[in-house]
Amino acid sequence: MKIIVKNDICDRCGCCTAVCEADCITVYEPCIEIDDEKCVGCRKCVWICPLEALTVTDNGKP
Ligand code: SF4
Ligand code: SF4
Repeated sequence: MKIIVKNDICDRCGCCTAVCEADCITVYEPCIEIDDEKCVGCRKCVWICPLEALTVTDNGKP
């Protein structure tokens, strides 16, 4: 699986970085970036995002 960021919706509030135990989300001003190699697939970021700016896609990884 992979987390997809809709950067046109995200307002860089930082809630997703606060809940990410793998510490793999970085907030930059123009966008946020997720390190797919470090992501453990817990989906907490998807659940916490108040704007529903994160979605999950299955790219074949567990
Ligand atoms: S929680 Fe949602 S709106 Fe906030 S920074 Fe993360 S993706 Fe963006
Ligand atoms: S799914 Fe979990 S580990 Fe992956 S970016 Fe979201 S909060 Fe972090």
